[in-house]
Amino acid sequence: ITEQKETELELLRSEHDLSVALEKATAASKAKSEFLASMSHELRTPLNAILGFAQMMQYRKDEPLMPGQKEAVDIILTSGAGLLNLINEVLDLARIEAGRATIYLDTVDAGKIVSDCVSMLTPLAQKRHIKIKNMVSSASAMLNTDAKRLKQMVVNYITNAIKYNKEGGLITIDGRITDHGFFHLSVTDTGIGIAEKNHPNVFGIFNRFEDNPHIPVEGTGVGLSVVKLLVERLAGNVGFESKINQGSTFWLELPLV
Ligand code: ADP
Repeated sequence: ITEQKETELELLRSEHDLSVALEKATAASKAKSEFLASMSHELRTPLNAILGFAQMMQYRKDEPLMPGQKEAVDIILTSGAGLLNLINEVLDLARIEAGRATIYLDTVDAGKIVSDCVSMLTPLAQKRHIKIKNMVSSASAMLNTDAKRLKQMVVNYITNAIKYNKEGGLITIDGRITDHGFFHLSVTDTGIGIAEKNHPNVFGIFNRFEDNPHIPVEGTGVGLSVVKLLVERLAGNVGFESKINQGSTFWLELPLV
């Protein structure tokens, strides 16, 4: 019985250690999110001034720019816009992580959202001769979710399927209702795929896999982490399957009404 009591004590002690560690980690993660949220504001304000004044320089008729100056101002504007995009994405992520993102639950027609996103992104796909096949019909599933956030997630998946596709590739969007009362939406591409060794990090923040033999594409490595956090807030699930050089399927599941 002494041995048994000792084991019980040991267990209690390790449970206590675990909960202390968990508390510390939660507090640290909250502090990090709050820091990011406030830093993003501090960064955005001066950046907007830089962009605003650079735009003014570009358009002033009374003081036109010399060709060399015009080139420099163009670089300020494109780099600035890229930085602003990154800051906005990080700010959004930090807000969601800190539990400060507002979510508006509503009855949402999944098919309608998907077709809106497809219309919006078709021109971008056409630039790379990529075809988007949308198999989700309107009114096929009514969800209890946030329409704006769902749109944001679908746009993210389709944009990635365009960016990491091969020239002239195909994107198939499909939807079905699962046995457990969810709508399962998938975006499949015929692109460059993701190497097995990178699979565990796909939804992590700032993870980009540049080791692909592919032209560098623009991105920040924030999009998929936002999708994962959002879906979890909306009581859903995310996942993917991918084979290098063959393509990927990214999916999400959200509760039906
Ligand atoms: P971003 O596209 O801004 O880099 P994401 O968070 O959306 O960031 O994606 C993270 C990384 O996952 C990308 O940099 C890319 O390497 C990989 N990835 C995402 N979607 C796909 C896809 N459909 N096919 C291949 N790789 C992808």
